[in-house]
Amino acid sequence: MFTFLAKFMAWEHSSSLSTSLVNHKNRNKRAVQFFLVAMGLDLLFVLVELAAGLSPVTDICRHPWLYSYIFLGTITGFSFFGAMIGSREDQLENLALRDSLTGLFNSRYLWARMDEQWATGKREKSTSSLVLFDLDFFKKVNDRHGHPVGDEVLKRVGQTLQHAARRGDTVARIGGEEFVFFLPNTSAHDTAIIADRIRETISLATMATHGRHHVKITISAGVASTKEYSVTTPHALYSLADQALYRAKEQGRNKVITCSKAH
Ligand code: GH3
Ligand code: MG
Ligand code: MG
Repeated sequence: MFTFLAKFMAWEHSSSLSTSLVNHKNRNKRAVQFFLVAMGLDLLFVLVELAAGLSPVTDICRHPWLYSYIFLGTITGFSFFGAMIGSREDQLENLALRDSLTGLFNSRYLWARMDEQWATGKREKSTSSLVLFDLDFFKKVNDRHGHPVGDEVLKRVGQTLQHAARRGDTVARIGGEEFVFFLPNTSAHDTAIIADRIRETISLATMATHGRHHVKITISAGVASTKEYSVTTPHALYSLADQALYRAKEQGRNKVITCSKAH
């Protein structure tokens, strides 16, 4: 019980980034923390009364409105204040870890998530895979339709990737038109199937945008997994996926290449 409370009251951020973004985790946490602080202060007030030789029960019965005001006022006031602080923390986390255009995670989050998963994967001896996606000839889209249309296309691609993600997968935009899909507990074979499904969906879609531009686009992908190569670091895994992506581009684009096939 004490450990739970101590953990709950700890002001520092939890090291687990994964859960802190989607919901209002900080807002709820701070509201409960401040609620507990208010309760503690009210309790302390009663104890001080007792120490001073006063009877809190008699006093409360004599001035119920005053005590309701003190107790409820501190509890609601503190909880509200805590929720406000937590909300601001949620916003700041979002700004720090999300890409502003697509709303996907950014590379800072991706590397932190991969480091976190790396330790778990090692312990459980499980395979993790990574897909590096890069839009084909994206510069031409910008040149032909303009930068705002290019942005719309990036958003649509981001939505498609996010839609394909399962619970536990991480989708991030790490560069202009480059995206990473990180899949814990997934073999290279299964990852390649998922990546190819995404590739097909994007190649079949017409990205209609506000300005009535109808854009067709394809995407190339490189897949690598921790198992086949006994990769030792997340950066090494990324580098293997990058090599596979390079092959996909070389072989004509609109392709998914798995690292084992690339060698
Ligand atoms: P390849 O098939 O070899 O990948 O060709 P590419 O044209 O996609 O690759 P290249 O790296 O030459 O061009 C990437 C383009 O992405 C160039 C840049 O204008 C565009 N880009 C990068 N970030 C953004 C962005 O935030 N919005 C828009 N609209 N375009 C972007
Ligand atoms: Mg690129
Ligand atoms: Mg490209």
